[in-house]
Amino acid sequence: MRIVAIHEATVPLSVAARSANISFDAMTSSAVALVTDVVREGRPLVGYGFDTIGRYGHGGLLRERFIPRLLSADPELYWDGAQIDPDAVWRILMANEKFGGHGERSGAVGVIDAAVWDLAAKIAGVPLWRYLADLDGQADAPGRVPVYASGGHYAAENDREVLRADLQKGIDAGHTRMKIKIGAAPLADDMARIEAALAVVGDGALALDANGIFDLDTARAYLAALAGYPIAWLEEPGTALDYALNAEIAAEAALPLAVVENLFSFDDARNLLRYGGLRADRDLLQFDISASYGIVEYRRILDLFAGAGWQRSAFAPHAGHLLAMHTAAGLGLGLAEVAISTASLFGQITAQLPIADGIATLPSEPGVGFEQLPVFEQLFGKVLAH
Ligand code: MG
Repeated sequence: MRIVAIHEATVPLSVAARSANISFDAMTSSAVALVTDVVREGRPLVGYGFDTIGRYGHGGLLRERFIPRLLSADPELYWDGAQIDPDAVWRILMANEKFGGHGERSGAVGVIDAAVWDLAAKIAGVPLWRYLADLDGQADAPGRVPVYASGGHYAAENDREVLRADLQKGIDAGHTRMKIKIGAAPLADDMARIEAALAVVGDGALALDANGIFDLDTARAYLAALAGYPIAWLEEPGTALDYALNAEIAAEAALPLAVVENLFSFDDARNLLRYGGLRADRDLLQFDISASYGIVEYRRILDLFAGAGWQRSAFAPHAGHLLAMHTAAGLGLGLAEVAISTASLFGQITAQLPIADGIATLPSEPGVGFEQLPVFEQLFGKVLAH
């Protein structure tokens, strides 16, 4: 088997929403198709990768560096005669890349890695969650994963009504845990927002996401105001790379914290473990799989934290749509994230998944299951037009 072509395209994910940190008006993502010379049912076997949301597409890096590097590699390096080796592909992609300074390359490598895992699961003839579970020795993995619904972005008009409607939509879709944005309004306004949300969502089932906007004083003010409120977790109060700030907040927060959707490597994860002051008994880790060099690197991060006494249940990958859900189900992680809004293309990727009582059931088709989605053409049409 050899990889005969790799196509990429930038796909618009624009949506009229904002967090405390950014607007999503001009958001994009990368789609990748990895075409092989393996023929199944009369067609070449293709691995598909679709990026996360929030970090834009990686077209330049893919075209100039990572795609040519993989295409020029000897197939014997990544093919053992029966299966593709994602770790070997990862080593090929990272050849001649200096240590440290991860920048945007972690996302470019991550989206190719995603396509490689889709391909590996298809070659094995099983859904990706099953493939990962077998690799991980989790024979009894059920193909289901606890999920939470992410939404509650600030609306330009009628914010409170839009918020309530958004959350009700999540409940109607089978969710029991919800997350809303905070930090872009004054504290008093945000508290009114939180109370409106709590009136819809049950106690202990509402999480708050500040998108890294708080300094220590602001975080303290929010923590004081939230004392006594039944909040599931406070997400990303401070910026991810300020380990000392995270440690100071963790030292004072009674609430669980959920952090680091914006750390993208094993090296950064190790610094977080050493200096971030997080608590294995309550905090959640939200490394974004596809933004962080993909599943190969993610498994290294899992091992790193396991060595420090962290349970898999503390892992709740950021966004990442079907890829993160398969990974969470296959590797026995705590939670996966689902966008409430199906107005955006990103939200539509998981819109068809059966969800009941806060548990999602993963697809049973081989691979990730992109081909079965109603939005397959919107995700990969530009890629396949090459
Ligand atoms: Mg977040």
